Amino acid sequence: MPIKRLPNIQYLQCLICGEKYHHSEVDYVCPKHGYEGILDIVYNYDYIQSLTHPRQWLRQTDQSMWRYKALLPIANDAWLPMLKIGGTPLYDAKRLADDLGLAKVWVKDEGRQATASLKDRAAAIAVVKAKAKGVEVITAASTGNAAAALSGLCASSGQRNVIFVPKSAPPAKITQLLVCGSEVMLVDGTYDDAFDLCLQATAEHGWYNRNTAYNPYMTEGKKTVSYEIFEQLGGMAPDVVLVSVGDGCIIGGVYKGFKDLYALGWIQQIPRLIGVQAEGSNYLYEAWKNQEDLQTKPPIKAHTLADSISAGLPRDRIKAMEAVVASKGAFLTVSDEEILLAIPQLASKTGVFAEPAGAAAYAGLLKAIEQDLVQAADSVVVLNTGNGLKDIKGAQKALELCGKKAKVIQVQRHRV
Ligand SMILES: *Cc1c(COP(=O)(O)O)cnc(C)c1O
Ligand SMILES: [Zn+2]
Repeated sequence: MPIKRLPNIQYLQCLICGEKYHHSEVDYVCPKHGYEGILDIVYNYDYIQSLTHPRQWLRQTDQSMWRYKALLPIANDAWLPMLKIGGTPLYDAKRLADDLGLAKVWVKDEGRQATASLKDRAAAIAVVKAKAKGVEVITAASTGNAAAALSGLCASSGQRNVIFVPKSAPPAKITQLLVCGSEVMLVDGTYDDAFDLCLQATAEHGWYNRNTAYNPYMTEGKKTVSYEIFEQLGGMAPDVVLVSVGDGCIIGGVYKGFKDLYALGWIQQIPRLIGVQAEGSNYLYEAWKNQEDLQTKPPIKAHTLADSISAGLPRDRIKAMEAVVASKGAFLTVSDEEILLAIPQLASKTGVFAEPAGAAAYAGLLKAIEQDLVQAADSVVVLNTGNGLKDIKGAQKALELCGKKAKVIQVQRHRV
C-alpha cells in the first residue's frame, strides 16, 4: 500500500547522528546506527497550530486519545481501533497531599486503560500504523503490559499478532494474551532474548514491529498522557511528574507531550520529570548521577520484583535521559520493599490499586520529598502506569510485609 504523506511531521531524526529522514523512508531505526539509532519524530508546529487548539479538545465529547490526532503520526482520515484508549482519570488526591504536606498531589490512573496499563496508548498507534501499511501480522516482545496492550488492540480489530514473552512474566499477563487470541511465543530466556527473536521474525517475515524504542512511534502514543494531564488541570502543567522507568519509553513520552505543548506556546514551562527506578534496575539513575556515556555504559544485571521496570539496558535510554536533564528533573531509586509498601499506602488513601511498577512512582514521591527534590509548594502528578490486579502476588507480598490480614470468623453451626 502506498504510504500517505503526513504533513504534520517534518522528519524523523536519529538521536545519535542527527541524520534526518522522511517518514516514508524509514520505519524503525536510523539505517546507519541499527538498533541504537532510535529516531525522534519532529513535527511541524506551525502547521499543527493552524489545525488544532486546546479549546477544541475541551469541547469534544470523545475522550479518547484520537482528539489529539493533529499531534500524532497518523493520517487525519486514518482507520481507528474500536477499543477506547485514553481519557483516564486524574484524581485530586487531597488526603495524600495533606499527609505529605504538599500543595497538590494528583494521581493519574492509567490502570483504567482498556487492558489496564499505559501501554495501550502505544499499542493504539501501532495498530493504526500497521493498518495503514496493510501488513498481515504485528509482532512485539514484552515483559507483559506492552504485549497485553497490543493483544487487546489487535483483538478489537481482527489483526493477527505474534508476541514473544519471557517465560518468567506473571501468569495474569500471559493469560491476558491468550484470551485475546494472540499467538504467544514463550521464550525460555530474558526480555532481551525475546526482543532479538522478535526482530529476527520482523526481518524474515516483513511483520510490523512495535518493540519499545525500536519503533519510534511508540513514544508518540505515550505522550498523549501529558496532553490529558494538561487538559485535566484546565490548561496547565504541574510542577513535577513522577514516572517509573524501565526502558525509559514512558518518561520519554511524557516529556515529548509537554515539549510539544511548550513548543506550541500552550504551557510556559515543562514540569520537572522525576524518573523512578528500582534499586536493582538502576541503569539510568547510575548513568545520570555519574554522568556516564549512554553509548558505552555496559548493561547491568537487572533484579526487581517490579517486573515492568526491570531493564538491564534500557532501550529508550537516550530519550529518558533527555527527559530528565532537559526538564531539570532527577532520577532516584527505591528498594523493592519500598515499592511493595507503596502499593497499600497509595491504595488505602486513594482507592487506586497499582501494580508494583505503578506504585514505584508513589514510592518515588516519598523519596523525592526526603531528598528535597519536591517542595511543599509544588503541584505534583504521580503517574500510576498499571493496574494492581495484574500482579496479585506483588500485592500479597506487600500485605505480608506490613502484616495486614483478613480477620477470620468461625461460624457456629447450630443443630436444629
Ligand atoms: C512498561 C511499564 C513501565 C515502564 O515503562 P518504560 O517505558 O519501560 O520505562 C512502568 N510501569 C508499567 C506498569 C509498565 O507497564
Ligand atoms: Zn544515525
